[in-house]
Amino acid sequence: MQYSLIMGQESIKNHLKQIVKTGQVSHGYIFEGPKGIGKFQMARIFSQSILCRVQGPEPCETCPSCVKANTGNHPDIHVVDMMEDSIKRQDIDGILDKIYTKPYESDRKIFIINESHKMTIQAANAFLKTLEEPPEDTIIILITTNVNLLLPTIASRCQNFRFEESSYDEIEKALVRDYNASEDESRLLAGYSKGILQRAINIKNKTFDLLTLRDQVLAIIDELMDVGRSTPFRFEKYFDQNKNQIEEIIEIMMIWFRDVLFYKIDLKEKIVNVDKLEWVVKHSKKTNSIKCSEIYGHLQMTYEDINNNMNFKYAIDHLLFKIQEVKHG
Ligand SMILES: [Zn+2]
Repeated sequence: MQYSLIMGQESIKNHLKQIVKTGQVSHGYIFEGPKGIGKFQMARIFSQSILCRVQGPEPCETCPSCVKANTGNHPDIHVVDMMEDSIKRQDIDGILDKIYTKPYESDRKIFIINESHKMTIQAANAFLKTLEEPPEDTIIILITTNVNLLLPTIASRCQNFRFEESSYDEIEKALVRDYNASEDESRLLAGYSKGILQRAINIKNKTFDLLTLRDQVLAIIDELMDVGRSTPFRFEKYFDQNKNQIEEIIEIMMIWFRDVLFYKIDLKEKIVNVDKLEWVVKHSKKTNSIKCSEIYGHLQMTYEDINNNMNFKYAIDHLLFKIQEVKHG
């Protein structure tokens, strides 16, 4: 695998290449960043590169070590991928046993711990001991969505790399270039990507069915904006059933009203829901730009209220009434 497999993150790639080139490899690294941004893949490529017999800036792909790393069968690259809720002590014991044995065929051995913030305190403490006096040939890469969830004593002993979101423009281009998306489709997917290419790809191939959720939410908005046709209480059940997706639902609503606003103020090239343009036009005729901005602000507030554990039913009822008020009388 080569670094070009991962989109963006150029400064991290350059830094990692430099580490291998100069041979100044440390014992502990933290790769921090949102889910799906490529941390795990970067850790695998970095590991392959460290163990590559050629020791160039990129893995050579042809030496015996690279061939094994590419198939995930390198005996000196140990991956702990957390399927369970917390990294259990016995899992860590298993790793620690390996830490204190010699590498099988390389001069180093590497441990990649995915979702490392899920370690229990006991596991973390066992790990800390290892990081305090690491065996010379051992490298540990901890992967996490949030470095603050790791023990500070662990974090301070590692070199931290923070992965940043990509721009929507970069994601659009990558979708057209590498994933066979049309320009309209890539605009839509990038708009819902949160700056994470993998999220856009998951929406495209429906491993994450965001567009069905969007269609349901748009149907509710449409009904609320249609004079006198329903009362918001009708939708309480829907929100209750989809409570665990409320952040996505609110974000869909925000993107929607932003699109309506963009249409009204003649910024049509910024509209995300390009496949629903007829609806954008329809809703834009029922409202004005001030009300669109108001509901956008109210959606932000609802998002915070729900995160601050405000009464869910109350927050949703209030929101639905507000959406009904978006249409001008
Ligand atoms: Zn190689």
